[in-house]
Amino acid sequence: MTETDRLYDKNAYLTSCTAAVISIRRIEAPEGGAADSADKNGREATPALYEAVLDRTVFFPEAGGQSSDTGWICAIDRPDRKKELLAVTDVQIKDGVIRHILSCSADSGAPFRAGEPVSLQINWERRFGFMQNHTGEHILSGLMHRRLGFDNIGFHLSDNSVTLDVNGQLNDEEILVLEWEANEVIYRNLPVEVSYPTDEELEKISYRSKIEIEGQTRLVRIPDTDICACCAPHVSRTGEIGLIKIVKVLRYNGGMRLFIACGRRALALMQKRQRWIEEVSHLTNRSQDEIGDGVKHLLGEIGDLKQKNRDLEYEAAFLRLKTVPRDRENVFLFVGNMDPIVHRNLVNRMCEEHEGFCGAFAGSDEEGRYRYYIASRTKDSREVQKILTNKLGAKGGGKPEMIQGSVTGTQSAISAVLP
Ligand SMILES: [Zn+2]
Repeated sequence: MTETDRLYDKNAYLTSCTAAVISIRRIEAPEGGAADSADKNGREATPALYEAVLDRTVFFPEAGGQSSDTGWICAIDRPDRKKELLAVTDVQIKDGVIRHILSCSADSGAPFRAGEPVSLQINWERRFGFMQNHTGEHILSGLMHRRLGFDNIGFHLSDNSVTLDVNGQLNDEEILVLEWEANEVIYRNLPVEVSYPTDEELEKISYRSKIEIEGQTRLVRIPDTDICACCAPHVSRTGEIGLIKIVKVLRYNGGMRLFIACGRRALALMQKRQRWIEEVSHLTNRSQDEIGDGVKHLLGEIGDLKQKNRDLEYEAAFLRLKTVPRDRENVFLFVGNMDPIVHRNLVNRMCEEHEGFCGAFAGSDEEGRYRYYIASRTKDSREVQKILTNKLGAKGGGKPEMIQGSVTGTQSAISAVLP
């Protein structure tokens, strides 16, 4: 099959075109795809999927880690179909032939015939966002390559995220400098130049090449910044990117993965983050510059309160222990939900004052579950574990001096089996 004429190669700003249908065929929805989920119960009509090959296209297919364009396609010559816009949900390329996946809401046969003229339209807002983010990625990768010798070893651009992986690491300060320099490239509003050098010319040019290239090499150059072999659509001047923001950095495969956002995507993200900052500023009653201190202060207060709470729990349990006659051998207390450290300390303290089994059950009848520590300085605590396991299915264990575990049941049910 002859290769599809890729109009986006020469003009990334072409949003629509007409084309002739080369072939069209019905295809099955991919496993677990959206089209697969409907109609098992006849509630919703399953969209019929068709694959159309055209003589030319404005749709960029999925390639080099970038999701394909989406958009619409419709017949031109048939008045009855003129207004029927079919959604293009996916676009794939193989051996230079581009296949458009069309979703038809009702299956009334193939929407087009071979040879028929159609008109195409891409989702331009989405595509322009891809162009902003993709060109922003070139700037960051190019700067890291020129200044530090890092190579881009992975790139992903979809509706939800943009990531780029490099084989070197930067510290926090260096990330800020990189981001600053990348945005300086935007302010200079440099041209993004596309060229198709011959093999001879190519030998003399030093360029980054991130993906295997089909056919002639397409070079994308941003002066003083980057030269890279790339087949995707880019903005024509760097100023159109608007803003490059590095939003997260992970150590990855010995290098790092940068999560970035450019253009409208960056602006939307910064607006969202600004709302979070305002919210935290309001909640902590601090100025926006001081929210870090505000949160640290709150965490300190929470830590102090937790310690105070532990002290009070211990004091309350100790007061109850004092009401138990000293000559009672086995002592079991039911306490509310208790900090595990306090819980354990309490049982140790009980052992100092009573000869037999000393245990504390922390929990409530509402929850229907209690955690316990049971200890003894004269007897084998595991005997009590056996009783709880056999009669109530408790789970736990330990040494003769102390066991711990949990049991399902109410206070009265547990009390009834204890020695
Ligand atoms: Zn590119």
